[in-house]
Amino acid sequence: MVMTETQPPADSEKLPRCRVGSKAENPCWRPAVEKQFPEDEGPTLCAEHARESSLIEDSDEWQSALYAIEEWKRGPVVEARSGYLERLVWRMLEEAREEFAKASAAAYAAKILADQGPPEEGEPRLTSDSGLQCG
Ligand SMILES: [Zn+2]
Repeated sequence: MVMTETQPPADSEKLPRCRVGSKAENPCWRPAVEKQFPEDEGPTLCAEHARESSLIEDSDEWQSALYAIEEWKRGPVVEARSGYLERLVWRMLEEAREEFAKASAAAYAAKILADQGPPEEGEPRLTSDSGLQCG
């Protein structure tokens, strides 16, 4: 049986680390390659966490759109007593719910991917929990 040696982090020492979890016990192990905010001076997030963060933003925006439509429906739309308007609002709500569900599922998938440990740990991490046996 051959043990693969862990590679020393050659160039990654020079790169800034992704800041996710830097104040917690499990800081992200990847180098930062993307800015979290346009005004950041340098890269602060790894590609995986940058993707997660932008997908979370998407899903947050859909959620607030959904809340806004619901509020509108409960207030002005009810007062307007228009079946046409109500039908339109239902359609908007349906679309917003669907988009929010899609966006939050995508954000969750990106989070799972971003939370994976370094590949040196040997085992493939992105698999279902059962069925994998070391042989
Ligand atoms: Zn990261």
